[in-house]
Order: sequence, then C-alpha cells, then structure tokens
Amino acid sequence: MRFRSKLPDVGTTIFTVMSRRAIDEGALNIGQGFPDYPIDPRLADFVHDAIAAGRNQYAPMEGVVELRTQIARKLEASYGGTFDPELEITITCGGTEALFDAIQVSISAGDEAIIFDPAYDAYEPAVRLAGGRCIRIPLLPPDFSYDWQRIKEALSERTRLIIINSPHNPSCTAITEWDLAQLAALVNDRPITILSDEVYEHVIFDGRRHASVLAHPELPERSFVVFSFGKTLHATGWRTGYCVAPAAMTVELRKVHQFNTFSIVSPLQYAITRYLAECADRIRDLPRFFQTKRDFLSRQLQGSGFRPLAAAGTYFQLVDYGSLSRERDLEFADRLIREAKIATIPLSVFYAEPPSMTLLRLCVAKRDETLAAAALQLRAFSERQTRA
Ligand code: GLN
Repeated sequence: MRFRSKLPDVGTTIFTVMSRRAIDEGALNIGQGFPDYPIDPRLADFVHDAIAAGRNQYAPMEGVVELRTQIARKLEASYGGTFDPELEITITCGGTEALFDAIQVSISAGDEAIIFDPAYDAYEPAVRLAGGRCIRIPLLPPDFSYDWQRIKEALSERTRLIIINSPHNPSCTAITEWDLAQLAALVNDRPITILSDEVYEHVIFDGRRHASVLAHPELPERSFVVFSFGKTLHATGWRTGYCVAPAAMTVELRKVHQFNTFSIVSPLQYAITRYLAECADRIRDLPRFFQTKRDFLSRQLQGSGFRPLAAAGTYFQLVDYGSLSRERDLEFADRLIREAKIATIPLSVFYAEPPSMTLLRLCVAKRDETLAAAALQLRAFSERQTRA
C-alpha cells in the first residue's frame, strides 16, 4: 500500500536538519535555539527532591494545581488582571503542544488562519491538519513591521484565527501596544480568535516592556496565550509550557490536550512550582542576562562580513551576510557549515514566498566561550571570502 501523506510538502524541521548537519560536519551549532550552559543548580535539586518525594505518577490532566497557582500569581504581577488557575491555565508539553491544541480547537475544515512571514514553522502544518488554510502575510522590511491595511484586506468570511508572536522568532522584533490596538480594532466585531505565542516574554531588551495580549483591555477574552518554561528556565528539553485562555476556551483546549499528551511530567511541575516560589529573582534577571549575550556576540562580529540587525528580543540575532555573497541563504548556510564549521538557520525557510534576502539566524543563548569561538570562526570565514 502506498501511504497517502496529509502533509506531502512538509519536510523535517530546519532546526532538526541543521542540528543533525552540525553533528555530521563537526560544526559548532548556533542554529537551533537552546542554551549550552547548565540550569540553576537549585532547580536541579528541586527535581531530585520531587522524584525522591514520590512525585512520579501521572500529574493531573490540566497540570499540577500548585504550579498553576504560581503561574497565576506570576501573570498577575507581570500583566495585571486576575487569572483563575483552575479554569484558565493548562500545563502543556512545551509551547508547541499548546499551539497545536489551540489551533485544533479554533480551526475547522475550510477555515482560514492569518499568519505572518517569516513565520515559526509549527503554525501552518497544525492549521492544515485541522483542515484549514493559512493566509500568509509578510512583515514589512527592513524592520519586519505589521501592515495593518493589508491584514484588514486579507480578512474574509472564513477567517477564524490570527496567530501573532512576540518577541518574534525568527525576526527578533517585539510587538508594540499600538500594534495590539490595531489588532483589537480589526477583530472587534468579527468571530476571530487570537493565538499569541509569547514564549520569549522574558527575553526582551533595551528596557522594553513585553506588550502581552494578556495586558490588553479587550484581547484576552478571545485569546489563547502560550508561554514556555523551557525558555524561561534555560531547560528547553523539559518540554513544559502552558496556555492561558478564558474558561470556555480552556474547556475546549483541554479536550484536545487530554487525548494528545494527557498530562505533563509530574516531578518537573513540582520542581518548577518551588522555583517560582523561591527563586523568582532569577526570572527578573533574564532580560539583562540575554541582552549581555546579544551585545557580546554583536561586538565580536563587528567589522566582519556578518552585520548584526537590531534585535529587540528572543534567543536570537539576525546577521546580514550580503557584503560577502549574493548566494541564497540555504546554500550559504550549507557552505558555512562545511567551510566555517558553524551551523546557523537561514531565514527564507520561514516564508511561503521568500523575498531575496541574505539573512541568517544565530542563537545567542550560549556560553560566552561558545559565542566567542563562533564569532572567531565566522570572522575567519569572512576574511577568506573577502580575500578570494
Ligand atoms: N524554538 C526553537 C528554535 O526556534 C526550535 C524548537 C524545535 O526545534 N522544534 O530554534
């Protein structure tokens, strides 16, 4: 039998492809977004304690209530308002599961979802599996801004979902309150749900405040908002995230969650609960921590053929290699792996119709030694290119 693919044009994610290539080529991997430094040893101790205390059986389907209570407090401190841990917060397998579940409950056959290019690669396949179709609208160069007029024109009778992401992966921008006001006006009298991917809420730079959908006066009543402890606790392998939504929407989300992952690793939830209660200062320090890394890498690249673009947030830094080569980014990234032994993420893969561009995404969530070594290899490559 020939198995019929539901996603014939979807390959393996660029993150997995590049991480595998990095291993094969013995290259330094600054592509996929994950830290290469240890987690806080107190957090590791808390996991050990939770396992030793016997927290080893199924957690409740919607998540450990103590954790959801800590999350509600954290959200209230960050964004104001009140959040009901029982009815409005669900623990998920990373941000990715929350995105998937929210899309499944929002989209039916024939519905349309609006997403913005460059778009994180998990959105469109989930929309298509739900029977829907993505309308992809490019963010405007050079600063990846929203074109609200064009978005308005793209709305149809079938539009059911708009997916936004801030701080934005991969463009490293942050949405403004003005943008959220435009969005709220646009959906005001339409049956459109918002899915807001805010997994980098704490990785935001230069004194900016994260403009969360949850802090907006009108948007929360129609929004699924997705967060990630992987990013916030430097532990992407823990696959622990959560989704915040009004009670009626959370009921629907949990119908998918319970048959998708059912419940999330129990000892990790107890460990995170304790960490939020006892070590919240570490989370407050995240903007400074990552901004220092961003600035360190930019300084190391100064004067090379890799020009850093302004970055408002996320684990990432875009660089423009246009002064070195006009090759397409996929080919250039491939050559970088082979010749500079550096794995990066080319930007064009996040577009339905990539414009001509010479941008690569680098991950700054790395030890200073890793960033320095990566910059040294990139500079050496850059010098060889200019001489050739
Ligand atoms: N969010 C990570 C990134 O952008 C990738 C996660 C994954 O590989 N699925 O690099």
